[in-house]
Amino acid sequence: MADAGEIVDSLPPASLDRLHRFADALAETNQHLNLSAVRAREGIWRRLILESLRLLPAIDAASANRPEPTTPATLIDVGTGGGIPGMALALARPEVRVTLLDATAKKLAFLERTAADVGATNVTCMHGRAEALGHDVRFRQAFDLVTARAVAALPVLLELCLPFARVGGTSLFPKGIALDDELAAAEVAAPLLGGRIIEASILPGIGSEVETRLVVLRKTEHTPRRFPRRTGVPAKQPLGAGSRNQDDGRADRTK
Ligand code: SAH
Repeated sequence: MADAGEIVDSLPPASLDRLHRFADALAETNQHLNLSAVRAREGIWRRLILESLRLLPAIDAASANRPEPTTPATLIDVGTGGGIPGMALALARPEVRVTLLDATAKKLAFLERTAADVGATNVTCMHGRAEALGHDVRFRQAFDLVTARAVAALPVLLELCLPFARVGGTSLFPKGIALDDELAAAEVAAPLLGGRIIEASILPGIGSEVETRLVVLRKTEHTPRRFPRRTGVPAKQPLGAGSRNQDDGRADRTK
């Protein structure tokens, strides 16, 4: 898999220019709106933008493997915050239709403004909770690709994200290196939600940065109607978290 430097070198100048303008906007807006803990412009470029671009080889492979690879691929970034990785991916791949979803309206307002400023016409901003929008017919099982970064532990993430993926679609979650506990619970959660973990490999390094594992899931079956459970329940009672918290959604329906 290509490293971030090679990926950046392969981008057309127009995309690179838009990515730099996005990084500028993040640095500027971060001074009064908490979009990310990474504050310095240089850190924003390296730790947020380049980290996002490391997903491109996996995005491209999944896009090419769709039943109709010539139609535009659709991607939803759940809990996008300041647009990581969704906005960066949209700017690098203008042919992919990207939906940025977050529960915080101010962050979406920033992203809407930024998309307009840089002229990104492939970006749609959506304000709401994944637990609610995952049941909305406009979004449920409607996307070829789902991404999420720094939103929740893996089993929670799967419940918030897999409902958005179409059957055959791919979910990509960049994660830290120490993942064994989360992965064990996610192995239990995935089949309940119609998904299968197909990979959790370490991405090639980009210099001194922390190592990243990219967890890749394939959606193999429809997600049962009872998922996602109502707002807050996925985080409070993660699927696959052991017998005390074990809840496949049935208990929730009776409340
Ligand atoms: N992905 C970004 C932001 C991470 S912070 C990054 O990597 O920098 C987590 C974000 O997820 C916050 O902006 C929060 O509003 C959003 N979020 C958390 N739970 C959510 C949910 N259930 N539905 C929608 N957004 C959620």
